[in-house]
Amino acid sequence: MRKITILGATGSVGQNTIDLIARDRDAYDVVALTGGANTKQLADDAIRLGADLAVTAYDDRLDDLRAALSGSGVEAAAGQAAIKEAAARPADWVMSAIVGSAGLAPGIEALKQGATLALANKETLVCAGQLVLETAQQHDARLLPVDSEHSAVFQALVGEDMAAVERIIITASGGAFRDWPISDLANATVEQASSHPNWDMGQRITIDSASMFNKALELIETKEFFGIDPTKIEVLVHPESIVHSLVGFNDGAVMAHLGAPDMRHAIGYALHWPDRRELPVNRLDLAKLGQLRFQEPDEARYPALRLAREVMERGGLSGAVFNAAKERALDLFIDRRIRFLDMADAVAAVLDRFESESHLLDATLTLDNVHQTDHLARQWVDDAVLQRAG
Ligand code: NDP
Ligand code: MG
Repeated sequence: MRKITILGATGSVGQNTIDLIARDRDAYDVVALTGGANTKQLADDAIRLGADLAVTAYDDRLDDLRAALSGSGVEAAAGQAAIKEAAARPADWVMSAIVGSAGLAPGIEALKQGATLALANKETLVCAGQLVLETAQQHDARLLPVDSEHSAVFQALVGEDMAAVERIIITASGGAFRDWPISDLANATVEQASSHPNWDMGQRITIDSASMFNKALELIETKEFFGIDPTKIEVLVHPESIVHSLVGFNDGAVMAHLGAPDMRHAIGYALHWPDRRELPVNRLDLAKLGQLRFQEPDEARYPALRLAREVMERGGLSGAVFNAAKERALDLFIDRRIRFLDMADAVAAVLDRFESESHLLDATLTLDNVHQTDHLARQWVDDAVLQRAG
């Protein structure tokens, strides 16, 4: 039986992972499930899947979790240290599906114990790509992409030589506001930004899709994961979300990966890799779809893409700054303290401020430095917002 752990089990990717595991219950020995506030779901799944351990991120939810697990024999724990401990427990395969930079440290723990890390948490590579790849190498651990675009590229590269790759084209649905007049974006509400035309995902990534901060993170993720020059990465708006990404080769050939927009494909591919197994996803009927559309992204509409290009060029800790500033700006938007377009302005202001103190960006890429930079970037978002308000 394969020993598996799911970090972020109660979220959208986590629940899709559990859906696949639960269909083939006898094939897996579930070591640990982790979640956050949703202790009821966490306990239900831990009992159903016979997990050894369930961990909530929040100390004040431990009593709830214990109560929900009572009599089941599943061990309960709480807090970030306990999540790291769960990730460090020996497992063959660990799903990294916590949202935000909170996913970084547990992911590193999983790599240190030599597990295969299925990476939905793109923030891990955005904040500390080089460190994460080196850790995997040192511990003979493997990273597999779960983000649908990166899984698509990974699949298009099977058997190929990276030296023959001319470009990687990651597709973007364009999010909730793709067809809105730019002048209306300033007044976009949290509710409007939280509804995705094609994918059913967690709220934060859905809003990031509307602002294209999600695609911006994915540009950086592509650079780190595939070790490709940023100038060779393109973004292509594709409203139907059927072509998940493409790879262009030096002979002019382009390999595209197509499929229904269902995360269980990318999760299942990482789960069964290097094999392919039957998965419960809808089959494509291209004749019924009739047409697929593609267009260039409008950088005036999506300033996040330009910022990501600056970050890729800058390197160092700028990815950690970009992500943390984006996370804090998103918190403020969700709390209705700033408006939709203010998010990109705040992130740009924080990147500029770090650039003026460039030694901070040039510090060594360690986990401690990422944490400190993350903390400071969040504070500087608040400074930028308060300054404007004052
Ligand atoms: P969700 O918000 O649906 O789930 C996030 C998970 O992380 C939940 O289990 C949540 O617990 C837990 N969590 C939240 N905050 C913390 C914290 N501070 N410490 C530990 N755990 C925490 O997110 P998604 O599933 O949508 O996304 C997960 C990751 O996968 C993100 O990095 C996202 O960018 C990436 N991704 C997601 C896709 C999707 O289809 N959703 C597609 C591609 C990538 P609880 O809910 O119990 O509070
Ligand atoms: Mg994606």
